[in-house]
Amino acid sequence: KVKGRYFMTCGEYDETMHQRLIDEQGFINDMNKALTNREFLFYLQPKYELSTSRIIGAEALVRWLHPQKGFIEPNRFIPIFEENGFIFSLDKYIWEEVCKLLRRWLDEGRPIHPISVNISRVDLYSDELVGFLDELIKKYNIPARLLELELTESAYFNNPEQIVDITQKLQKMGFIILMDDFGSGYSSLNMLKDVNVNVLKVDLKFLQNTSQNNRSGRILNAVVYMAKCLELPIIIEGVETLQQSEFLQSIGCSWVQGYYYSRPIPVKDYEKLIDQMEYLPSAAELCPCTLP
Ligand code: C2E
Ligand code: MG
Ligand code: MG
Ligand code: MG
Repeated sequence: KVKGRYFMTCGEYDETMHQRLIDEQGFINDMNKALTNREFLFYLQPKYELSTSRIIGAEALVRWLHPQKGFIEPNRFIPIFEENGFIFSLDKYIWEEVCKLLRRWLDEGRPIHPISVNISRVDLYSDELVGFLDELIKKYNIPARLLELELTESAYFNNPEQIVDITQKLQKMGFIILMDDFGSGYSSLNMLKDVNVNVLKVDLKFLQNTSQNNRSGRILNAVVYMAKCLELPIIIEGVETLQQSEFLQSIGCSWVQGYYYSRPIPVKDYEKLIDQMEYLPSAAELCPCTLP
């Protein structure tokens, strides 16, 4: 296997890389057992309508509760699982857990809104992907639009035809496709031309050090305007401060997600949060035809 990091010069080999090499073997040894033992779980990070601060949905973000190593963040193990092919197994598990939760909320008659899950660029190589998602929503009897799918923009770079094809198939089945990490790659505009996504999620790096007049602020402003021209809803990720939130409001951004509003939180805490909200559209209002 050719792995980029083996070709790095000494100067690039830093502590992070060192830690990664140590992590890697341990994670690979433990991953299958961890899946069987249900050590993976997901947190939910709410997404908000900026003008009303109403929750419009949430993103499911995986965590690993390792019996010895404790709580492990995805950036440490996802890249490793993407390299060794385990990611698809993990993702299928998380998607199913999310469907179980949506099913429970529907059964309990809770106000319900979509939860988005992440799809690794590696998952797109599997012939099973579309069929698996189709069977999953049938198994739990969930309207496709409640399980939103986040595809990372970097998937497009290596695999433009595949991503166009898969996106079309999933949309025909009723899934909403969000383009995650928009603007982080090398071919964002090409991607936008070819792939007919439903929502843009702008990479959180875009928000760092933005203000009305600086360069990143103006770029963000232009991206929000571009999304308007394309009639594409847009979510800005990584909102950490009141200033950022005000700036986004001033440029007419509609949806946000970030630590300023809420960190990713356990499902129980998320349920408390939505129970406190004064108004949320009910499940029936959202999908009158498809719900049982
Ligand atoms: P992502 O999908 O772009 O998710 C956003 C990441 O930004 C999350 O990190 C979230 O906790 C973090 N974030 C949210 N708001 C803020 C903020 O205001 N400031 C800062 N600095 N960060 C913020 P997390 O949970 O550590 O996940 C990292 C990445 O791991 C995700 O990026 C996604 O690419 C991947 N990932 C997470 N869960 C899954 C999963 O179930 N499957 C796959 N394939 N990838 C996943
Ligand atoms: Mg995401
Ligand atoms: Mg993102
Ligand atoms: Mg990301």
